Parts: sequence; structure tokens; C-alpha cells
Amino acid sequence: MTPELFRAIQSIVGPKHLLAGSGPDAAGYSADWTGSYRWQPWAIARPASTDEVSAILRLAAENRLQVVPSGGRTGLTGGLHAEGALMLSLERMNRIRAIDAKTRTAVVEAGVILSQIHDAADDLGLYFPLWFGARGSAMIGGALSTNAGGSNVLRHGSARALCLGLEAVLADGRVLNLMSALHKDNSGYDLKDLFIGAEGTLGVITAATVRLVPKARAHVTAMLALDDLADALDVLNQLQTASGGLVEAFEFMPRAYMEQLARHLPHLGQPFTDVAAVTILAELGATAPRDVAPEPDGTIPIATLVEDTLGGLIEKGTVRDAIIARSHAQRGAMWARREAAAELARVQGHSVDFDVALPLDRLGPFLVQAEAETARLDPGAYTNTVGHLGDGNIHLAVFTTRADPDLADAITTAVEDVVRRLDGSFSAEHGIGLSKLGSMRRRKDPVALDVMRRIKAALDPLAILNPGKTVPDIPAPPDLPPRPS
Ligand SMILES: Cc1cc2nc3c(=O)[nH]c(=O)nc-3n(C[C@H](O)[C@H](O)[C@H](O)COP(=O)(O)OP(=O)(O)OC[C@H]3O[C@@H](n4cnc5c(N)ncnc54)[C@H](O)[C@@H]3O)c2cc1C
Repeated sequence: MTPELFRAIQSIVGPKHLLAGSGPDAAGYSADWTGSYRWQPWAIARPASTDEVSAILRLAAENRLQVVPSGGRTGLTGGLHAEGALMLSLERMNRIRAIDAKTRTAVVEAGVILSQIHDAADDLGLYFPLWFGARGSAMIGGALSTNAGGSNVLRHGSARALCLGLEAVLADGRVLNLMSALHKDNSGYDLKDLFIGAEGTLGVITAATVRLVPKARAHVTAMLALDDLADALDVLNQLQTASGGLVEAFEFMPRAYMEQLARHLPHLGQPFTDVAAVTILAELGATAPRDVAPEPDGTIPIATLVEDTLGGLIEKGTVRDAIIARSHAQRGAMWARREAAAELARVQGHSVDFDVALPLDRLGPFLVQAEAETARLDPGAYTNTVGHLGDGNIHLAVFTTRADPDLADAITTAVEDVVRRLDGSFSAEHGIGLSKLGSMRRRKDPVALDVMRRIKAALDPLAILNPGKTVPDIPAPPDLPPRPS
């Protein structure tokens, strides 16, 4: 890339906001949260507006400059790898343009951090239900681009379900304005959904209109000890039926997870004296006065209902033990154990990672069969599992006895075979990035892959947007001469 192009981008964003990839300020932009992926970008641009993004992409198209959009860099699949490319960091586009309690919507720029939306919604007695461990760093543009999930998907859906409108800049610099606040719009193809989960390969998301929900006026958070994962679905169904669908989170931590937590992050403590085969973190959120208004004796109806339901399940032997949080601090301690999952995997070093989705009644068989396959291929390997059980999403990390790409590939193939036999998906919420490209090639329906490649070619014919990610084997772009500027 030429010094002229550098100066041209500098004149768009200002000298302070274009960093050379080899410079000292570039370090934070040269790796992701996992630390497994490192790169040296050509430069990092920090635009402050949609117009600036548009001007940069027009220049990029004219010069065939590859562009990798960046949010909070908490992605877990290598989707930010940007060797020799221009990183487009949306961090300065961090304004909440509007938030409206009446329509329960917020209009946010792509660089707004999720916890900023949580705080702004909270001030209005509302809640933005995209909630996961990285919420203090992940940005809404990144969360939409990965169609992130998290702990509340069970009740409120993934990022896609929370997005009403979108603004994106296309690979040729044109601005696609789909910033509606409509809950229904059947005017042709749903283009908004094309950019959600596209991981920056089809356009740069610059703003979105998101849905807010009423803030729970009472939470009941409990840790449950079960002897058998097969019983967990029964527990979830009974809590849902008794409460009228108020379960917001139903998270799964098996014995090995709790034991590894005790070993590596002992300050987080343990809920039960004896580690159970299955530990569940369940949370219900209620807004209706009949559920949240204290009784004369001070008890809260929704808490009583959960206690009674769990009491019945303990009597039946479905649940062995249960603890209900009695304070904000206790609730926080329960969540800290669950939200330590990514950190727990990271401190244990390199692993072969799976982020799979399964029908709710096949999670148990999946774990049994996946662990059997892992033991067959590497008898000394051990696993760490955690999951959003309520929506059928399991994160499985396999710590192998040796760093051997062939072994990793054999384990990936074997575990994904199990997923396929059980009618699941090899990718639930983290996206594809670089790390799951092989799985896309092997597992995705060939017709679906062909349609994806055609969409990519139509929207980004020069293949400059986040090249090499998400869809494998994108054909080389036609050898067109650069457009005159
Ligand atoms: C501790 C921890 C816990 C996590 N828990 C969860 C979880 O429970 N559920 C879950 O789904 N994920 C989880 N994640 C993964 C991650 O936080 C999400 O994928 C998140 O949505 C990424 O947001 P980000 O802003 O950091 O995006 P980045 O990591 O910066 O980018 C991710 C991808 O999106 C693209 N991109 C970023 N911004 C834009 C934009 N404006 N326009 C177009 N493309 C863009 C990038 O090029 C990249 O391909 C977790 C991560 C960590 C570290």
C-alpha cells in the first residue's frame, strides 16, 4: 500500500485516528481476546461517522485494499485476523443516538459497548437482553456481526431477534439505510438479516435500532445440583410451566467444570460441599405485580413459587440440592462461576473448541458420545464443558495431550460426526471466523455454500471485506483494473 493511500485515509479520519500497523499504538489491534490469533495490519483507521466509513470504503475499493472491521475484539473464532489489511475500528462511533421508553427501542452506533446499552436502558426501567461475559468490551456492531447469543437467548433470542433496523456501508462505499423501528416489514428480501452473522464479510455495520424489554423487578437466581443431565430438561419445563415462561437463563456446568474452577479459580468458591454431576444456574425474571409485590410476611411470590417448585423436584429426587440467592452479592457470585468459562478455558492453554447446538433432548447423548470419541482418539485428553442448556448450546473444550494438528483434526471430525448424527449444528453462537472454516467446508450443505458465495460475489465483487473468513473457498476476484479515483 502506498504512502499516498495512507495520506488519503488520514485526510478522512484525521492524523490522530490513522495508526500505522507497525507503530507502537497498534499492539492492541494486532491480537484478539484469545491470544491465539496475531497479525500485523497495514494500518488502523478509527472513523467517527458513517460518512467517514463510506469514504474509506470507496478508497479501499478503488485501491483493492482489504478491510477488516473491528469491534471490541472479544470474538472467539479468529474473525479479526487482518495481516496486511486496513483494520476499521468502530470504537469512536459510540453514541446512543436515541433511546425511547415508549417504543422500547434504542438507536445505537456500531461502536457502542453492550454494557452502555444496558446502563442506558436501566435508567428507563428497561433491559437490553444481549447478556454475556464480554458485555463490558463487546460492541453492538461486533455482536450483530457474530449474531451473538449469551445467557438470555432462551427467553429473548439472539442478537438477530433483538435488531429491528440496521445501517451498513457496502464494499463500494454506498450506505444501505435499513434503520427502521418496524416490528414487521415484508417489503421484499430481508436485507438486514444478511448482515447479521456475516462477520464483516458483506458490509460494515455502522448503526442499529435494537429492541428493549421491561426490566425485571425481581430476579430469582438459583444453583441446582442434579445427578443426571437427563433430568435437567424436566426441571426447566417445570419452572417454565409454573412461572408462565419467566426463565431467562438455564446454564449448565458439569462436575469436571466445577472441579477445574476449584483448581484454577478457587476464589470463585463452590455452591455445594459435594460437587454434583450436574450443576445448573437457573434465573427467572419477573415484572408483574402479582409476582414481585411482597406479601405481608415479606416474601416475594415469584421466589415462593420457585422454592415450591424446586421443593417438589427435590422430593421426587429429580433435584438433589438447591440454593437460592438471597442478596445481590450472592446472585453475582453465582454468575461469576458461570461467566468464568472463557477465562477458565484460556488459563488451561490450547484446546480444540466446539460451540455446538443440539435438540434439547440430545445434549446428554452428545456429551457421552463426544467424550467417548475424544477418549478413543487421545486417551489422556480431558474436557471442559459449559453450556446455555436452555437453548441447546454446548461449549466443549478438549485439552489434548499433545499439540498435533492431525489429532485436532481427527477429534474435530469425530465430534462433528456425533453432532450430525444427533441433528445438531457445528456452530451455535460464536460464528465461523477462521477457526471453523474447515467445518463449514465439510459440514455445510453445498447448495447453501454456493448461495453464500454468490451473495458474497454480488455484494463484495473485489473480495476486500474481511477476506478469507466465514465462507470457505471464495473464488479470486476478477482481475479488473483499479477504478480511476
Ligand atoms: C469472556 C467472553 C465471553 C463470551 N461469551 C459469549 C456468549 O455467551 N455468547 C456469544 O455469542 N459470544 C460470546 N463471546 C464471544 C464474543 O464476545 C462475541 O462474539 C461478540 O459479539 C463479539 O463482539 P466484538 O465487538 O468484540 O466483535 P469483534 O471481536 O471485534 O469482531 C467479531 C467479528 O465481527 C466483525 N465485526 C466487528 N464489528 C463489525 C462491524 N461494525 N461491522 C461488520 N463486522 C464487524 C469482525 O470483523 C469479526 O469478524 C464471549 C467472548 C468472551 C471473551
